[in-house]
Amino acid sequence: MRNTRAIQLLFELSQPGRCGARLPACDVPEASPESLLPREALAGGAPGLPEMAEPDVVRHFTNLSTLNMSVDTHFYPLGSCTMKHNPKRNERLASLPGMLHVHPYQPDDTIQGLLELLYELQGMFAEISGLPGVSLQPAAGAHGELTALMAAAAHFQARDERRTTVLTPDSAHGTNPATPVMRGYKVRAVPVGPDADVDLEALKEACGPQTAGLMMTNPSTCGVFERQIEDIAKAVHEAGGLLYYDGANLNAIMGISRPGDMGFDIVHFNLHKSFTQPHGGGGPGAGPIAVSDRIEPYLMNPRVTRDEGEDGTPRFDLVEDRPESIGRLRGFQGNFGVFVRSYAYICSLGAEGLREASEIAVLNANYLLALLRRPEIAPYLPLAFGERCMHEFVLSGAPMKRDLGIRTTDLAKRLLDHGYHPPTVYFPLLVEEALLVEPTETETRETIEAFAEAVGAILREAAEDPEIARNAPYTTPVRRMDEAAAARNPVVRQPPAG
Ligand SMILES: *Cc1c(COP(=O)(O)O)cnc(C)c1O
Repeated sequence: MRNTRAIQLLFELSQPGRCGARLPACDVPEASPESLLPREALAGGAPGLPEMAEPDVVRHFTNLSTLNMSVDTHFYPLGSCTMKHNPKRNERLASLPGMLHVHPYQPDDTIQGLLELLYELQGMFAEISGLPGVSLQPAAGAHGELTALMAAAAHFQARDERRTTVLTPDSAHGTNPATPVMRGYKVRAVPVGPDADVDLEALKEACGPQTAGLMMTNPSTCGVFERQIEDIAKAVHEAGGLLYYDGANLNAIMGISRPGDMGFDIVHFNLHKSFTQPHGGGGPGAGPIAVSDRIEPYLMNPRVTRDEGEDGTPRFDLVEDRPESIGRLRGFQGNFGVFVRSYAYICSLGAEGLREASEIAVLNANYLLALLRRPEIAPYLPLAFGERCMHEFVLSGAPMKRDLGIRTTDLAKRLLDHGYHPPTVYFPLLVEEALLVEPTETETRETIEAFAEAVGAILREAAEDPEIARNAPYTTPVRRMDEAAAARNPVVRQPPAG
């Protein structure tokens, strides 16, 4: 059972006068605050900090850390997010003193090894994507999208082309239409057909001299590989537009197919998805981008270069040699610890291992899909597109809602009681009562089978009594919340006493 005492605030646990530290007696003459600082710089009183014993503080935070689900505590098949295991070796390497205590303003001479790591990582992402120009700077996928559109805009400006519109399939992740709007583009949605392939005729009709490009992911958020990708690339390129690859689904194709070979001009990577940077909880991420030769001149400064001295010793430098660059995107090169983890991950697997990771991700998803297509489950939760899937798949809970009286959200909440983080719900928007499931390659057969059993058990229970799932969860520290109210009106302060 979980410890619900930990939900109490430190302020509620506070006992006036209790203290966790013992300070030595003051051995210098005491001075009044007023004699040291101007009055307007002084606080009105002591800060209202909780007064507690040290063990209680430790217990509070340790217990607090167990209230959420995480990949280290629970199966977490959150679609589109690739919640794979994060190897602990990566943490050890990122915590080495030479990695941890480096200062961003240190001279290049003193950080040759770290620059080499960045340089090699650039090369790895070029190889994985099939696109030669890499910048590690963007902080996340969405930041990579924005960067890419800024570079694309610089490319069009240099050619004196005024292009106003970015296309996105209507299966797209929300960031794909949101990013062009931030950059001042209009967005036009392109429909996808019943099998989740882009409607090619509609795409051709939407393409024209106003088209800056198309943003899409492949496999799409519908969990299927877009088979007409070459025709799509041709249509967009013929109109003079660029093709942007949202790399969030890269976990399906690493080492198997390359966005550059499919015809994409720009790719972002989510290192906190495919490349084992832990994510969730707002930790740092990284969204490097890789681009084709024609976009490369507009990438950010600086980049890491490699030279060889007379004696053949390599030398790495941060160089600002792109005069047409869109500039800097951030203070420094990015979240360095993220790069160390992803570098360690890629090195530990090698090219063969990366490919195998993707193959197993696809196999695991298809195995789970097959288990969920058993006759006691499939009629209530049918597969939304096609027969098989890539690394994730979309089910529709519409028949479950109609026949059993529980919605996808009820199923998701009840899964919490079974000890599973639910899959993604209500995305993609195209599918009624959508459930987007991504088991990842790091789960065992037993875990996948147990999860499928839990889904079956919840459906059987709903056939008996739908109220049970409708009121779930029961075993979590907080029960079902009004999520809209919680997001719009968060209560983060202690309520006034009395
Ligand atoms: C996660 C995701 C993004 C956004 O990436 P962030 O790193 O969260 O900014 C974009 N597209 C898809 C399909 C995603 O799953």
